[in-house]
Amino acid sequence: MKHNFKKKFGQNFISDKNLLLAMASDAKIDKADSVLEIGAGQGSLTKVLDEKAGKVVSYEIDSELKDTLQSLKLKNTIFVFKDALKEPLQNIESHFEGNYKIVANLPYYITSPLIFKFLNSSKRVKSLTVMVQKEVAKRMVAKLGEKDYGLLSIMIEFYGQPNISRYVDKKMFLPVPKVDSAVVHIELIDKYPDIDGQKFYRFLQACFAMRRKTLQNNLSHSYPLIKDKLSSIFGEDLKKRSEQLSLDEFIKYYKIIEKLI
Ligand code: SAH
Repeated sequence: MKHNFKKKFGQNFISDKNLLLAMASDAKIDKADSVLEIGAGQGSLTKVLDEKAGKVVSYEIDSELKDTLQSLKLKNTIFVFKDALKEPLQNIESHFEGNYKIVANLPYYITSPLIFKFLNSSKRVKSLTVMVQKEVAKRMVAKLGEKDYGLLSIMIEFYGQPNISRYVDKKMFLPVPKVDSAVVHIELIDKYPDIDGQKFYRFLQACFAMRRKTLQNNLSHSYPLIKDKLSSIFGEDLKKRSEQLSLDEFIKYYKIIEKLI
């Protein structure tokens, strides 16, 4: 069916069957799995997931794709024609009985908010296997000391274990986007059950508020009321920039700061 691609929805479709199968294999999907897909497009990835998984729920914001998707007559898939970002998590999760895996060729204009919607609020996601822009993928997996290390790397490390499972040339998409992509697989692990991820994320946002500024600059600006206490908490680290600190160091400081803010 002819489709008018909508840039505003981040529509870049994949049709290469080998690539789609490889993505499902990166996600380690089998019949015991329930899968959430975000952005069905014309359903090319959905078809593969439908064959491999026990159940698939696939969100698509563009209702013009409804006829194409429904004509696929997929046996194990439910399509939901709604904005996955706006949809309350509870509604999304009401489709699943237990835990589930996320597999998606994500719309790039909302990659981070979509990932954090699930990471910060859900306790039921087992893993995420997402196609993102290559630059974002590198930031997601970067380690302390590497060029791409920052807020995104630290939050992803907080929630699990990420790896880039493959790089994907931009020519694999239709229409061809400006940049190459990569598939990132994140196994979620409950490493810090006693820390509220959402609050920790806000603390990190404060630490990283202004790029290239020291923690002292960023934190005294974000937490003016505890400005005088900062040097006794952070010591010499206060003169560092946030990208010079490890996840464990941030956790250590957060545990002190959380009681004061
Ligand atoms: N999975 C398909 C399409 C990927 S393109 C493939 O691999 O070919 C991303 C898709 O996400 C587009 O179809 C776009 O319409 C959809 N989309 C964009 N924003 C969305 C949102 N907020 N909620 C649900 N779907 C969205």
